[in-house]
Amino acid sequence: DLAGWQRGLRAQFPMIAANPDVAYLDSAATSQKPQAVLDAVITYLTTGNANAARGTYPWANRTTARIEQARDRLRRFLGDPAPAESTVQFVSGATEGLRAVARDWLLPQLRDGDEILVPFADHNANSMPWVEAATMAGISVRAIPYDAAHDYDHRRLTVSPRTRMIAATHVHHVYGSDMNVHRLRAIAPGVPICLDAAQSFGHIPISVAELDVDFVVFSGHKAMALPGTGAIWARNRRGPAYRPAGWIGSPNTSGIISLAAAMDWLDAAGLDRIARWNQALGVRLTEGLSKMPAYEVLGCQRSLTADSMVQQRHGIVTFRHHSIGSNDLGFILASDGLLVRADDHCQGAQGEKTASVRVSLHVYNTPEEVDRLLEALSRLDH
Ligand code: PMP
Repeated sequence: DLAGWQRGLRAQFPMIAANPDVAYLDSAATSQKPQAVLDAVITYLTTGNANAARGTYPWANRTTARIEQARDRLRRFLGDPAPAESTVQFVSGATEGLRAVARDWLLPQLRDGDEILVPFADHNANSMPWVEAATMAGISVRAIPYDAAHDYDHRRLTVSPRTRMIAATHVHHVYGSDMNVHRLRAIAPGVPICLDAAQSFGHIPISVAELDVDFVVFSGHKAMALPGTGAIWARNRRGPAYRPAGWIGSPNTSGIISLAAAMDWLDAAGLDRIARWNQALGVRLTEGLSKMPAYEVLGCQRSLTADSMVQQRHGIVTFRHHSIGSNDLGFILASDGLLVRADDHCQGAQGEKTASVRVSLHVYNTPEEVDRLLEALSRLDH
């Protein structure tokens, strides 16, 4: 009983429970937090708080151990097939993580004549640091081409022996589509791929073995954990030298503990079911919008069958009204307690040129909330 399962999960989110008249529809910006994650943080800070350090007293040693356990927790969460060979570094989020891979891992290796491949219609956080690193090294950047469905067009992508990195995104933060990274891997065997998993981590199961990528970078705050959390997973001991496996600086102990608790919570809830729930909500919204002529859904061809929409939408649906500006639409919806994001969504140089309204759903959202949104939108369908 999927609905009963969902009701049980929804009840665990204090922000949601305290605001029954509000529909929070902006989880791609940041997720709400389940009580179990908040409890883990409070328990740690009230019974275990100490800086991580080596060997001096038990509180500190326990913190160190918790952080090592969190690294292993992430390896398991990602289905790491060779956990002894991978590195996990905790960072403040995807932006810092992607920049660290670009500046601290890639840049020192770049030589004249190298090139990197960068997705310019994805999030700026996954293009700017790569361009900066390439500029500093004086090498060229090629854009990863897209097809009409905003998927990477692997048929028009070429790699060379001098291609040093493919920066790719797992799930697109505007279109909600799975970018089919395995197709990039198929035409680029051996080329390092860095995966921006900011919108997939905690939303769909991630298997690094299946994806065959070299780096996975994400933000914890979009996946039930506290703000200021995230990680870089890297295979084959490839992690950036900055903040190496030992300790440089004080780690975000309570944040890392929240991330481990979030992974426990997500696994217990069931990522497969979470993914199906979010997709079904996204499809419900897309189908409702497709019946209203005033709205254009971005990245969605109306000819798509229901099946491929299910496949394409991971709980993120972005649209525009043909005459009401997206910012105005965002304010109108907010006055109805429908909290969406309305702007240009930090897309890179090849992204959308005008603002749009993004609705992003997570497991605490309900079909009734989607219908309430559709109802509000239908009043403006003229
Ligand atoms: N990549 C993608 C795909 C994102 O959606 C975001 C967050 N909007 C980021 C990177 C950056 O994440 P953060 O702001 O948490 O660093």
